[in-house]
Amino acid sequence: MTGNLSLLGSTGSIGTQTLDVVRKLGIPVCALAAHSNIDLLEQQAREFSPKLVAVYEEQAALELKKRLADSHIEVTVGMEGLCQAAKYPEADVVLNAVVGMVGLQPTLEAIEAQKNVALANKETLVAGGTLVMEKAKQKGIKILPVDSEHSAIFQCLQGCPTPKALNRLILTASGGPFFGKTREELKQVTPQQALKHPNWNMGAKVTIDSATMMNKGLELMEAFWLFSMPVDRIDIVVHRESIVHSLIEYQDHSMIAQMGVPDMRIPIQYAITWPERYPSPVEQLDLTKVGSLTFYSPDEETFTCLRACKKAIRKGGLAPAAANGANETAVPLFLQGKISFPDIGCLVEQAVERQEAGTVSCLEDILQADNAARAFVLDSVGAR
Ligand code: NDP
Ligand code: MG
Repeated sequence: MTGNLSLLGSTGSIGTQTLDVVRKLGIPVCALAAHSNIDLLEQQAREFSPKLVAVYEEQAALELKKRLADSHIEVTVGMEGLCQAAKYPEADVVLNAVVGMVGLQPTLEAIEAQKNVALANKETLVAGGTLVMEKAKQKGIKILPVDSEHSAIFQCLQGCPTPKALNRLILTASGGPFFGKTREELKQVTPQQALKHPNWNMGAKVTIDSATMMNKGLELMEAFWLFSMPVDRIDIVVHRESIVHSLIEYQDHSMIAQMGVPDMRIPIQYAITWPERYPSPVEQLDLTKVGSLTFYSPDEETFTCLRACKKAIRKGGLAPAAANGANETAVPLFLQGKISFPDIGCLVEQAVERQEAGTVSCLEDILQADNAARAFVLDSVGAR
């Protein structure tokens, strides 16, 4: 089992479920980080006694420092503070569960400091895949997937004799709350409707990403990097029940699937304890209760985010960073009622078309493409 854990994004959906796993397995936590939810962070700090707590937002960091004055816990602030948590000397594994591009720099810092990284923050790999995977290789560390689909593939791959034996990867998608709707119907969709996911209980951004299927597009790119698999050998099938979390197909056309109830604590625990297995509080899957499993082709003409992400990964270079940056900016605009639901896909697709592939040689290149895509979205809707 792992030694010390540093947990970035501890107050979020993945973060709190990680602490549930950690609490049950008795894994020591040496660092916690969040944006500004200091009420929860204080509770977590008092329960898990980390040595360091990083708070991104300055005022919140000052307040937490005062509140924790009776302890020996160091409180750090901003991006520098977040990176300190990512490279905390005593950490053996860093679980990155912050949401968005802000997670890229801490991921790179953790790898630089030779920590294994359990990665939930998919935006990191989408925008910075080249840098992250190169650095991971150079430093000889592992990137362990937390995302349920990638964990499923990773689990199916245990025992794979050689990468050559593998034919394709099949990512499953729930289809979200609007599966089967037409483009016309999607124009009327409200944020409240989009925030209701049928199977998973997640943070707001990833829930909207699931509804637009941007999430599956991001996951396609994530799989491309994690498993070095060309994009035309990664298929996507809509599977409404979210029981089969993804599959692999070997050259002999034998397929292997990973199944379980939809509960993130299984993939979180596997990322932390790999290659070992431990008991889990997650309920057993009763196949007779599930009854039947269904599979459909995704509708890329209606859910254009998926099509945009495929274009981005085929174009390569900086295009995925543009897709991600445009989406991260468009989602809050939709939640604020400033753009319609299908506008998200249109903006992502246009941002991908505008971005030249270029070359990715450093973090600055990625941040520039990300900023350009964000500015494009804001300008397009007159929100700057
Ligand atoms: P949430 O919105 O629930 O949580 C986000 C976390 O990130 C919070 O702890 C938040 O802190 C923290 N955070 C945000 N900005 C910063 C910052 N600048 N510095 C430090 N911490 C920050 O998101 P989820 O847990 O749902 O998702 C996290 C990541 O995992 C995303 O990339 C998502 O795509 C991925 N993922 C999520 C799944 C899920 O089931 N939820 C499934 C698979 C992947 P605060 O609370 O203070 O704002
Ligand atoms: Mg997923």
